[in-house]
Amino acid sequence: MNTSYQFTPGGICPVCGKLHASAVKETYNKENAIEDLPLLVKKYGATRAFVIADVNTWPIGGEKIFNTLTAAGIPAAKHVFPNRRLEPDEKAVGSLLMHYDSTCDIIIAFGSGVINDLSKLLAHMTNNTYIIVASAAYMDGYASGNSSVVRDGVKVTLNSKSPDVIMGDTGVLSAAPAHMAKAGLGDMLAKYISICEWRISNLINGEYYCEDVAAYTRSVREACVQAAPGIVSRDPNAIATVFKGLVDAGMAMDYAGCSRPGGGGEHYFSHLWDMRGLEFGTHVAPHGMQAAIGTLYSIKGFEALRKIKPDREKALAYAKSFDFAAWSEKLTEFLGKGAEAMIALEAKERKYDLDKHRARLDVILAKWDELMAILDEELPSSADIEALLASIDAPKCIEDIGMDKSILPMTLMATKDIRDKYILSRLLWDLGVLDEVAAELAK
Ligand SMILES: [Zn+2]
Ligand SMILES: [Zn+2]
Repeated sequence: MNTSYQFTPGGICPVCGKLHASAVKETYNKENAIEDLPLLVKKYGATRAFVIADVNTWPIGGEKIFNTLTAAGIPAAKHVFPNRRLEPDEKAVGSLLMHYDSTCDIIIAFGSGVINDLSKLLAHMTNNTYIIVASAAYMDGYASGNSSVVRDGVKVTLNSKSPDVIMGDTGVLSAAPAHMAKAGLGDMLAKYISICEWRISNLINGEYYCEDVAAYTRSVREACVQAAPGIVSRDPNAIATVFKGLVDAGMAMDYAGCSRPGGGGEHYFSHLWDMRGLEFGTHVAPHGMQAAIGTLYSIKGFEALRKIKPDREKALAYAKSFDFAAWSEKLTEFLGKGAEAMIALEAKERKYDLDKHRARLDVILAKWDELMAILDEELPSSADIEALLASIDAPKCIEDIGMDKSILPMTLMATKDIRDKYILSRLLWDLGVLDEVAAELAK
């Protein structure tokens, strides 16, 4: 695999004809990057900074950021969330707004997922320049112009604002616990599935696809896989590589104008487990780790698909006997109130419509060999992924992230209802084999 692929964003793509641009203006990934903050504040014409951290991130970098600014003569205000486990909910957003100093004209946050999601919202509401300084190479959502939050007890995605600057300070990133970079690598492994499913949907539904963006995403993913051995010892070069991969993969979603490069069905495993955690208080593992485990079981699902002989009559009979009302009940039992939006989506999308199914099935059968070739080209084996995870002492099965494998069949089946996205579970449903492949995952 070519790992030195160069991608030049900012122009019209010769491959897909789209403008590949990101709202992120610059990224930093170097030793002592935090010391550049005063210059950056001036560069963006700001005079007074609002620093955001939580009680965990304040002592490991937030305070250093605050002191670096004030020592350079830049006045700063701050909000440090007192929560050990901060949730991105109404209370946190309210707390941030009520502590916000409106005389500030630049927002600098130090953290990863939740802090970034909350700070992006504040930056969006105040229309200020926003810099995120990463506390760990933990997940790929730094660049995203959306915030994943919990509203009325349900996980939703709100429009917010991409950071103007994403900063990684190598010293700070490699001081973070190794399990955080393992989760970051897990979020990168998801890119095996995301690219594979993106190509499949392009093949079957003619969905927009750019081979240039896909190649770019593969190259940053492979660099992270190569760096994996150094994660355990928190080798600064390995951690910087994973961080770069996460930032670049996040930007790839901007370039493509959709989330396809970054995530597919494997991320829906994680969403579903998050939803169950919110509703029933069941165990939730770090995002990237759940994505890694979702990747592993997605690959197992694709391996099962490889062994299948497609059968048109069986697929048609399966779709005909599908009972949406009964399925909706099962979804509600599995997810609680989070299922409502998923059930409502079908009224808009009508993916289970029999005519639509027949049309997709015809394409799948006609293009079967191309479909199998995509799997061959894009996917490692499940044994490869298990070996990689074992080599860095990371969780390598669902039990290792504190969940029971009995939830795997329902998890795979429910991934098809989360968003209007053609993924493994929809392909299996179209072929009439979703139930049997899902059942196999729990064996
Ligand atoms: Zn393109
Ligand atoms: Zn992710």
